[in-house]
Amino acid sequence: MPNKIEVGVLGATGMVGQQFICQLQGHPLFELTWLGASERSAGKTYAEAARWVQDRPVPASIASQTVQAAVPSATAPKLVFSAMDASVAGEIEQAFAKAGHLVVSNSKNHRMLPDVPLLVPEINPDHLGLITAQRKNRGWSGAIVTNPNCSTIALTMGLAPLMPFGIKRILATTLQAISGAGYPGLPSMDIVANVIPLIGGEEEKMEVETHKILGSFTGGAIQELDAPMSAHCNRVQVVDGHTVCISVDLASKPSIDEIKAAFSSFSGLPQQKKLHTAPLHPIHLMEEPDRPQPRRDAMRENGMAVSVGRIRKCSILGYKFVSLGHNTIRGAAGAAVLNAELLHSEGWLD
Ligand code: NAP
Repeated sequence: MPNKIEVGVLGATGMVGQQFICQLQGHPLFELTWLGASERSAGKTYAEAARWVQDRPVPASIASQTVQAAVPSATAPKLVFSAMDASVAGEIEQAFAKAGHLVVSNSKNHRMLPDVPLLVPEINPDHLGLITAQRKNRGWSGAIVTNPNCSTIALTMGLAPLMPFGIKRILATTLQAISGAGYPGLPSMDIVANVIPLIGGEEEKMEVETHKILGSFTGGAIQELDAPMSAHCNRVQVVDGHTVCISVDLASKPSIDEIKAAFSSFSGLPQQKKLHTAPLHPIHLMEEPDRPQPRRDAMRENGMAVSVGRIRKCSILGYKFVSLGHNTIRGAAGAAVLNAELLHSEGWLD
């Protein structure tokens, strides 16, 4: 395709890597021409290397591609998405950025570095300004841009419309899908008919990432949101879709109707720019008393919309509601593709 931008995926064989392949199929701007994974997979065809677990067949053009080692090379495209295991993503992503690649990453490794954007295009597109400092600090011609943890996205999309009311304190309890643990994930003997009240490091990630995402970009740096927050994270027997039950204290004490209006009118730069992967309505406000539900609502707008419902008074913090997002799409591959579309539209790929 002559006018498309060639892109690659690091960690293409994994759960999120497969979702990247789905998201990039038929993309009007990007053409997936390069697949990277570990030495275990390098040199094999994609069909041989990956255990495909998506609901649709692996595209024929991808199945026959040879998987490459995850090292910068002349054949790797300038724009690479990263879905590598966090134990290796740090060093490899930095090597690509140093070699001039723009790395759009899902991994946790660089999210909290002060010169790396932790981007949610509807919420903090101005944080892309950190790239300038990143390149200066590190002497890179490339850069790293990250998207948040899969549960943080459902939380911050639920909180962003409430920012004008003055967020003072946040309490969040998650019910997280099994696919969030990658493949093969948890042993069935642990998760079937069960709830596991621990996801290692997740509560800490949600707390710090939320403060950065909802922070303001002033004077070339992020001033984090000043609002104490506490998270509980649980793994539940759901395949896709992370649910977050949120209680929040708001300074200006809006009415429930004002909160609903803020959710239903919420929109951002991706909607203004009509970016390909952007949902028409980033938040779907649900009035049914028993929604949102992961099986019924996680795939709204191809998995890119976040569903919010059960908005009501909380006798402790003032307001409570439920937010749901698809963890491997809005919380991972779809988020990164939207980030790359924003980078392109803002001229960072030129
Ligand atoms: P996964 O299914 O375990 O896949 C891991 C990927 O990393 C595979 O492609 C694997 O390649 C590759 N890899 C492992 N060692 C490597 C090495 N030494 N060099 C290059 N590649 C290597 O994990 P996942 O669930 O897709 O998650 C991928 C990343 O996204 C993680 O950092 C995770 O925290 C993050 N994330 C996941 C979700 C989610 O909902 N699952 C959401 C947000 C963020 P081989 O097949 O060759 O081993």
